[in-house]
Amino acid sequence: MKIASLIGACDDPRVQRATAKKAVPPSDPEARRLFDVAARVVRKLRDAGHEAVLAGGCVRDLLLGREPADYDVATSATAEQVQRLFRRTVPVGVQFGVVLVIESGQHLQVATFRRDGAYLDHRHPATVHFADERADAERRDFTVNGMFLDPETLEVRDHVGGLADLEAGVIRAIGDPYARFDEDRLRLLRAIRFAARFDWRIEDATWQAICKLAPTIVGIAWERIGEEIVKILTEGRARRGFELMSASGLLGVLIPEVEAMRGVAQSADHHPEGDVFTHTMLCLEKLGPQHGEALALAVLLHDVAKPLCAERRDDGRITFYGHCEKGAEMTLDIVQRLRRSRDTAERAAILVEQHLHHVQAPAMRVAKLKRFLAQEHIDDLLELVRIDALSASGNLEAYEFCRAKQAELAREARLPDPLLRGRDLIELGHRPGPRFREILERAFDAQLEGEITSREAARAWVLGHYPPAEPDSAT
Ligand code: ATP
Ligand code: MG
Repeated sequence: MKIASLIGACDDPRVQRATAKKAVPPSDPEARRLFDVAARVVRKLRDAGHEAVLAGGCVRDLLLGREPADYDVATSATAEQVQRLFRRTVPVGVQFGVVLVIESGQHLQVATFRRDGAYLDHRHPATVHFADERADAERRDFTVNGMFLDPETLEVRDHVGGLADLEAGVIRAIGDPYARFDEDRLRLLRAIRFAARFDWRIEDATWQAICKLAPTIVGIAWERIGEEIVKILTEGRARRGFELMSASGLLGVLIPEVEAMRGVAQSADHHPEGDVFTHTMLCLEKLGPQHGEALALAVLLHDVAKPLCAERRDDGRITFYGHCEKGAEMTLDIVQRLRRSRDTAERAAILVEQHLHHVQAPAMRVAKLKRFLAQEHIDDLLELVRIDALSASGNLEAYEFCRAKQAELAREARLPDPLLRGRDLIELGHRPGPRFREILERAFDAQLEGEITSREAARAWVLGHYPPAEPDSAT
């Protein structure tokens, strides 16, 4: 296989040279160290006579001034050559030319330039052919993900118009969108995830292909669908992600229970914002990277049973009796459908089941309230409650009551400083020894039980319970 030499002197006019838009390495020292490790891997491959560049998401992130989560290297070297060149490697996908290189404690994916063969299962190419840099750009999903970077000159190598789309904030499939989504249907969700994460527009033909192919996404593994959906929920701008999923038809296919919230009316006094779907979208808007997976899923699903439980009373009010319990059941089912862990499913379900319990808190007896607030998931539950309230009437009274009680109990739970200390015992005529510790512990118990409330009282208590022995009289 002859590989066109595209590194260095490149005079192909179709390669958009990014002289005006060079990438800038990260300024944060730790992020800079990771970039330098990646640059060293590229250098080593080049010193051995191979072409090598940084590729894909890391190039996009560097151009955006974001810290790349990880670095991928694309090279003309074969997997075997990469394995020979580096001391620590893991053959993660040698048949696809992919090797994991471990360098200075960092994992980098090093992949041979390739062109994908036919896709048979709408997810994986049946074969790959090793190819050149341009072909490797063209097999990638979106133009903004299809660029390369020379880490030494910081020059961007753009064969697919990625720079212009990055500048304009556009997600555009590389090549024919319909064909590209049809060969790998996970890309339908990836397009939406990137559009949401960066708050970018999806180019028209790309969007039309997504809408057309949405019903076919069910053919691929639920594990991968679940991963993408959780990323959409937790990477920020979850509302935009779910609105795009809904508009494209993907939501109706993947989680029809959420799509069914559309148009389900609620009483205007509790929910001036509108129907159950609108309320849920306002909740998603408040999710951020600080929120965990189980909480994010519970925020999405807390009212999932409302469409089933809605009843209009004679006075015109709309009620949803039982929607918390039914919602918990549905949450278990949906989270397991998305192949998330059993633990995540159970946590999300408990949050959904309890999302109205706090309303009773001010009327609870102390023991019940303490048990309610001592639950392991209480912080997630109260965060769900806060998000739920802020996305509806905005009434935070019951929430704030719970937070205040929580703080009060935490203060109570901390042990006070002991009133009686060793030096008091010495002043009272005790000598340091094994009994010393016993007296201090007993006095502290008496203090915790409220029997001793001051240092004077503590000293009096010692004299009453442990009178010091008579001093030895040397007669
Ligand atoms: P993230 O920041 O979420 O990691 P990323 O763009 O780095 O985003 P990865 O899944 O890490 O995404 O993949 C790295 C690169 O591999 C992508 O930028 C893209 O060039 C290519 N890629 C990944 N998945 C696909 C796919 N399903 N189809 C085509 N190309 C893909
Ligand atoms: Mg990545």
